[in-house]
Order: sequence, then structure tokens, then C-alpha cells
Amino acid sequence: MRYAIISDIHSNLPALQAVLGRIDSLAVDEIICLGDIVGYNANPNECVKLIRDRNIKSIIGNHETRACGTASARGFNPAARKAIEWTSSLLTEENLAFLNSLPLTLDIGEDALAFHGRFKDVDSYIHSETDAKYVFEELPSSTSIAFFGHTHLSRVYSQGKGLIFDGSSGTVKIEEGERLLVNPGSVGQPRDGDPRASFLLYDNRERENWPLNGSGIP
Ligand code: ZN
Repeated sequence: MRYAIISDIHSNLPALQAVLGRIDSLAVDEIICLGDIVGYNANPNECVKLIRDRNIKSIIGNHETRACGTASARGFNPAARKAIEWTSSLLTEENLAFLNSLPLTLDIGEDALAFHGRFKDVDSYIHSETDAKYVFEELPSSTSIAFFGHTHLSRVYSQGKGLIFDGSSGTVKIEEGERLLVNPGSVGQPRDGDPRASFLLYDNRERENWPLNGSGIP
């Protein structure tokens, strides 16, 4: 199977449309979203509708838990808090119910899984090799590759080798017996200094991840 992995859309409809347009040209079997469909930007309902209409499998992000009221927005910075309160008031009942139904983790094939922040924790970050080391220990032993979002930075950590990818474009091959933690970067709110939307392709036959930028969003 060939998967496109997207994350952190944050209600940015033009970025989501551009990324899906690019993905549609890449012969992908399935699209997976790592959460934070909403928050910050202007089109929460439109983005949720597009995710639902396209049958994109998604997990829950920390902005979804706040939009649905299952967690408090008190820890958010003032701008994020204001945006999520506005988002929450704007979301249709149907879209809120959809976001509330999203799982915390998702299995992708036999030995891959997805989560938003850390394993079973939407709020904590994987920002360093030390963070990654702890998360590798928490993962089921059958998991050889896990996809995460939340930091909005395209990264690949290897258990044993540490950070092995922090660029905006390139290919990473998973070696026999290796375990990886992989972040595709953000669709709708890049934090890597590159304003373009980011996503990745994962081919579990080639055992290849391909983080890439360049959907054409200025
Ligand atoms: Zn986010």
C-alpha cells in the first residue's frame, strides 16, 4: 500500500485543497490525517467536510479535544485559545460529533501506527532525540514505524541512530529491524520557516518514507 500522511491542517482550506490535489496525482491508495484538522485559521467546517467527503482516516489532535470541549483550552496561548473558542462556536453539530468520534491512535497496516503528539497523549511533543527515545519504549514491540504530528516540523527519528532527517524534501528507507518515528510537517501552519504546505508518502512495500514540501502554497 502507498499512503499519503498529512497533519496539522488547522482550518487552512486552500492549503488542504492544494495538498489533496498534489496527492491525487501521486497514485496513493489511502490518505491518513494525524489530527489538528481545526484551529487557528478561517475554514474549520470546510476542512472537516473535505476530510469526511474524501473518507480520509483521521486521529484526534489537541485542537479537536478543545473544540469538542473534552479538554480545557486554559493551557493554550491566548491566540490559539481565542481561535479554538471561535472554531468551537462555528462548527456544526455534525462536524463536532465527527471530531469527537476520532480515535487517539490508528493502526496502519501490520506494524505501523499513528498518533498526534505522543503515543496515547495528544498534548505532549516529540521535539528531541530524548523525547523520541522515551516514545520508542512506550510503543508496542510490534510497531516498527509510528507517524506523529503536533510539532509542525518534518522529522524522522530512528531508535538507536537518533535524528536522521530534518529537511524539507528527501527519501528515507527503513532498514531491516529498524524502528522509526516520522513527522510529515504541517499542511496548514508550517513552523519550519518554509511557508509551503508539507506532507509525506509512505510505501510499505518499498519500506520507504518520503517527506516532501512543495504543494505550491506561497
Ligand atoms: Zn497543530
